Amino acid sequence: MADHEHTEQAREPITITDADYRAALNEHTGLCLECGAERGCCEPDARRYRCEECNARAVYGIEELMLMGLLEITE
Ligand SMILES: [Zn+2]
Repeated sequence: MADHEHTEQAREPITITDADYRAALNEHTGLCLECGAERGCCEPDARRYRCEECNARAVYGIEELMLMGLLEITE
């Protein structure tokens, strides 16, 4: 079985607590993969939104980050 995990570049997963994950889902918070800034008004499945901090199209919704394996829930 060919193992193409991601077309995205390999990145360190962002660690987040379960409480923060739930809060981000409720508050529609997205995270910028370039600079780590949070962005509001970001649907959980948002992809490549523009970051208000660094202007990169690298903001992803919290659920999307999880699906991409870029989010790691810590207890
Ligand atoms: Zn950014």
